[in-house]
Amino acid sequence: DYKLLQYEVNQDANERIKQLALKNNTKVIVNTAPYVEVDDDFYKNLYMVTPNEVEAEAVTGIKVDNFENAKNAAAIFREKGVENVLITLGSNGVFVSDGNKEEIIDSFKVKTVDTTGAGDAFNGGFLAALSEGKDIWQAAVFANAVAALSVQKLGTTPAMPSREEVDKFLEERTN
Ligand code: ATP
Repeated sequence: DYKLLQYEVNQDANERIKQLALKNNTKVIVNTAPYVEVDDDFYKNLYMVTPNEVEAEAVTGIKVDNFENAKNAAAIFREKGVENVLITLGSNGVFVSDGNKEEIIDSFKVKTVDTTGAGDAFNGGFLAALSEGKDIWQAAVFANAVAALSVQKLGTTPAMPSREEVDKFLEERTN
């Protein structure tokens, strides 16, 4: 149902995968990391982008340092052809915009050890939640939990939580 692309893959491949995905009615999401400049056309017909603040500024020219500016950056992404915009804000959580509603969803407050890989944890969690049928708002909360667990451990891959850990954390923190 969803295809998540990012810029560690060469851009020719990304463009080809995007076209194949669209042809098969698969929604395409682009995590704009690690940032590279790509042809503006690449943002056309995307279901969603998930930049961090630095990447959002690089693409839109707007410094995402408050809610208003996040909304302005989202509007520019939308002009380029992106339907939904999610900007990760580190320990401040995420800004989400679906064109009708725009909101900041707070991160979970945790004892932070190492934030390296938080973006990957977030995006992996986000896609897992969407694939299970959650909407982008619910998926953002789930992804916040995955990332909050990852920042409590050192490293990247070894810091990724198991599904059981995520479910337990969400049960404790949201009920
Ligand atoms: P990186 O490049 O280090 O992987 P990033 O810059 O792509 O990270 P960030 O915006 O820093 O991504 O963080 C992604 C998500 O991780 C945030 O939206 C939030 O959900 C979570 N997160 C990051 N830092 C913290 C923190 N200190 N406490 C709780 N959650 C955090």
